[in-house]
Amino acid sequence: MNVTVVCEHNDSMDSPEGKAAYPEGLGNCLAALFGEKGAHVTLVTADRQGVPGLTDELLGSTDVLVWWGHWFHGYVADQQADAVADRVRRGMGMLFLHSAHDSKPFKRLLGTSCTLSWREDGELERLWFPSPAHPIVRGLGEYIDIPHEEMYGEPFDIPVPDELVCIGWFEGGEVFRGGCVFRRGRGSIFYFNPGHETYPTYKLPAVRTLLQQAAEYVAPQVGIAETLSCRHFEQFSVPRR
Ligand code: ZN
Repeated sequence: MNVTVVCEHNDSMDSPEGKAAYPEGLGNCLAALFGEKGAHVTLVTADRQGVPGLTDELLGSTDVLVWWGHWFHGYVADQQADAVADRVRRGMGMLFLHSAHDSKPFKRLLGTSCTLSWREDGELERLWFPSPAHPIVRGLGEYIDIPHEEMYGEPFDIPVPDELVCIGWFEGGEVFRGGCVFRRGRGSIFYFNPGHETYPTYKLPAVRTLLQQAAEYVAPQVGIAETLSCRHFEQFSVPRR
């Protein structure tokens, strides 16, 4: 499986808290997370230049695209966001992490504002699994605890998810649809809320297992090449502006 990780590098990651959470860099942590299960991982950095490393060639060979972004969503070219959404509709799997809820590809694919409420308190998030046997959370029990996380709360302006995999509860009392599967065309999407850059959430073994299982779950079942060669795929293409 070819996994491409798009991860921005922002100033918050260079803060003492950010460096303490991810001395190796959050992007490298994510690349290792998916690589340790045998995926071939390519890490691409997003910054004020956009995501120049996410070439059409790389996108074309990607089975699962992982997107972590926060500060630089506006620097991603509209045409590139269209291309990502188009690839998902043609069968590429996609994981959107944490503040990628506000990314251009996510909003294109979901068609809503994707706004939410938030509070950066570093409080406990208990992530409940309404279906503990779902392949994404299998083996993890009924819930996992994330000791310190940014609060993301309802109302979350998304379409009704095709599968609600995780419900987050925060110490402050809020709840959030923190793990959602959406189907678009031939592609599958998983959104996962935990992962603020100054908390080492992606070091937690249960979170790593969950994300590895999520990548497997959204990956094209027949391989991206076969999926894209389907003679009916043009019906999923999106007109370019
Ligand atoms: Zn955050």
